[in-house]
Amino acid sequence: MDRPENIRTNLETLRARIGDAARSAGRDPSDVTLVAISKYQPAEAVRAALEAGHRDFGENRIQEAEEKWPALLTEFPDTTLHFVGPLQTNKVAAAVALCHVIHAVDREKLARKLAEEMREQNVERPCFIQVNTGEEPQKAGVHPDQADDFIAYCRDALGLPVAGLMCIPPLDENAGVHFAYLGEIAKRHGLRQLSMGMSADFEVAVKLGATHVRLGTAVFGERPSG
Ligand SMILES: *Cc1c(COP(=O)(O)O)cnc(C)c1O
Repeated sequence: MDRPENIRTNLETLRARIGDAARSAGRDPSDVTLVAISKYQPAEAVRAALEAGHRDFGENRIQEAEEKWPALLTEFPDTTLHFVGPLQTNKVAAAVALCHVIHAVDREKLARKLAEEMREQNVERPCFIQVNTGEEPQKAGVHPDQADDFIAYCRDALGLPVAGLMCIPPLDENAGVHFAYLGEIAKRHGLRQLSMGMSADFEVAVKLGATHVRLGTAVFGERPSG
């Protein structure tokens, strides 16, 4: 991880870069949320970002989130915790209890379980539907051909609060093509929010309409292996 003072500077620099990218595309910078992905980062790194005033964070493993976040959320109650990883159905109850936004909804069983838990716990957690825009067999996300039906199923049949769409482009391809494609699908469904763009490509994503960029290493430095 970077030193605490570097994490503060990283956040300032990234906000400025997001702002520039947004303005260059005629967008309002305040429409873009920087989600600091704190997976594998120790609580002291997260604390440095919180103390620098940052309030949106993302984790990709429930167990790690449960170890790190309850105490920090008590101390910084205005924090929004995003769950960005693949979610197993047996972790849905814990995810809905702890996390405020769910970024990777990609199959019916998961969507049903999320809707059921939100009712059970009487909370609303905005969801992003993950689309496998690169049609990569090993990658999570609904196939683009099935996206229309799946979005309709989540919203209309389940009443899931679908905020928007999310994607992770293939590593070796032009990310902009995938971001634009995701934006088209979202537009067809009147979905305004797009969770796209990571440390290497967030400016392209912002220019193409990202409302949530998910930045890990750019905020915290290299992840400790583990
Ligand atoms: C780890 C992760 C990120 C952040 O990746 P960086 O390249 O470190 O910015 C973004 N989104 C998801 C889903 C992740 O798992």
